[in-house]
Amino acid sequence: MRIIGVAAFVLTALISAVILLLPEPEGFPILEYHQVTDAPLDPAFEVYNVPPDVFAAQLDWLQAEGYTTITLQDFMRVVHGKGTLPAKPIVLTFDDGYEDNYTTMLPILEARGMTAVVYVITNEVGKPGYLNVEQLKDMQRRGLEIGSHTSDHLPLTSQDDVTQRRQIRESKTFLEWSGLQTIYSLSYPNGAFNPEVEQILREENYLTAVTGEAGLNTLKTNPYELYRIHIRKPRLGLLEFKLRLFKAKFFAKLRAL
Ligand SMILES: [Zn+2]
Repeated sequence: MRIIGVAAFVLTALISAVILLLPEPEGFPILEYHQVTDAPLDPAFEVYNVPPDVFAAQLDWLQAEGYTTITLQDFMRVVHGKGTLPAKPIVLTFDDGYEDNYTTMLPILEARGMTAVVYVITNEVGKPGYLNVEQLKDMQRRGLEIGSHTSDHLPLTSQDDVTQRRQIRESKTFLEWSGLQTIYSLSYPNGAFNPEVEQILREENYLTAVTGEAGLNTLKTNPYELYRIHIRKPRLGLLEFKLRLFKAKFFAKLRAL
């Protein structure tokens, strides 16, 4: 057993070394955040939240590294031939639509002249701890993109097609009828997607959707299967953040093989 263990270790190390030696992958990262707070709405989800000072340090590091934040609408304009991407683009996304995205995250973002995409669960809008319509409109006015995280956060692939379509369509119309500008992007609840769900998104006039799969995105990436890296509450400080960005690169290299 010990020999097998050693052999497996050596093999893994060798494969990793080969992957590391491959040329730098093309593409830009999309980061997935949830709450930016010291006091999460549900303490059970503590690991999904990034404290404000940690978030600010991550943005400072990204800026120092020369990254420019864009929205997914910016990205799609370039996909359709309008304009070009900045030298080092990055997309910051926030799932579920927590109120601290407005009260805490937005000031940290704006102090650095950065932008983001916020995906809301529309049946939570206006409830305690969640963003309300006025806050969403204000974020859109300030240049952030608002997207749908469906009406109820049900994993779409395990729903019947009537429910899938309602979750996708009604969340979009709710936001637009509430006075927001057109919604173009969706974040899959629990990262669950398949070709049937993607087809509904096309028919309902969504242009992009983000998954929970690690990797980097290029103009050729399927816009309904955009790769994203999950940023959790770090235990290793900024090093862990850099490792997560590295993970995206690593998976992009693997996919290019
Ligand atoms: Zn979610």
